[in-house]
Amino acid sequence: MEKLIIGSHVSFNKADQLIGSVKEAISYGATTFMFYTGAPQNTARYPIEDVKTKEALKLMQENDIDINDVVIHAPYIINLANAANKDFGVSFLRQELSRAKELGINKVVLHPGSHVGIGVEAGIQNIADCLNLVPESKDVMICLETMAGKGSEIASKLEELKKIMDLVEYPLYVCIDTCHLNDAGYEMSNFDKFLETFDDIIGIDKIKCVHINDSMNPIASHKDRHANIGFGTIGFDNLIKVIYHDKLKDVPKILETPYTSLSGERLYPPYKFEIEMIRNKKFDEKLIEKIESYYK
Ligand code: FE
Ligand code: FE
Ligand code: ZN
Repeated sequence: MEKLIIGSHVSFNKADQLIGSVKEAISYGATTFMFYTGAPQNTARYPIEDVKTKEALKLMQENDIDINDVVIHAPYIINLANAANKDFGVSFLRQELSRAKELGINKVVLHPGSHVGIGVEAGIQNIADCLNLVPESKDVMICLETMAGKGSEIASKLEELKKIMDLVEYPLYVCIDTCHLNDAGYEMSNFDKFLETFDDIIGIDKIKCVHINDSMNPIASHKDRHANIGFGTIGFDNLIKVIYHDKLKDVPKILETPYTSLSGERLYPPYKFEIEMIRNKKFDEKLIEKIESYYK
């Protein structure tokens, strides 16, 4: 049987570093994972400890997790589209790429940014200018994420992504996010058609990561609120088609669905059970109850 490359967002903490992330992924039955190298909302970062990285690598090998499938998400405070903090964004992104390299991880997902009033074209130019100031890394691929188009977010249209890619002097890659695509107006009920469109504009081979999320909102709502798999407007069957799509079989699939709760008291990670459901290819309407009773 072909290996399904699926995992979720996991944590990365100072004490355990990558070892903690790997252990969390294993607890979900995942074959990959994604993490922020520190808090996503600030830039405080601690040094990578090589001893821990080596031990994490060993743990990955023992558990059928290929480091080449693992993904880092750049913090969302980086906004390259907004000229006001260009220098900050550039230097932080540089650091993030070298941290990825230190950890042996070859994919960094980046939100292109929000233009915050200066307009899409100026925003795109800023993003490209910044990326051109970040030297090309032969070891790490920058994957621009498709966005929902919330507020003044750039890259809710594939044409905008393409423009950025054309303006940058080295190759860029793409992370598609099913919730964002739905909210941006792309029909996830006809994923083959979407892939055709994507191939025409950008090229399917550029897709290096897929974020698998259901959406709380209807198509073209520009909201960006993720729902648990099968509990949103995209629906289980449509997401299964994305996950098992032949043309994306070598691309890591990452769940970023919300932690759940029945009681409203404590929130629990849904990933172990969502991954199980995905492997079974059968929607389980009792999913939230199952998660609650497992972790409680
Ligand atoms: Fe993201
Ligand atoms: Fe995402
Ligand atoms: Zn999102």
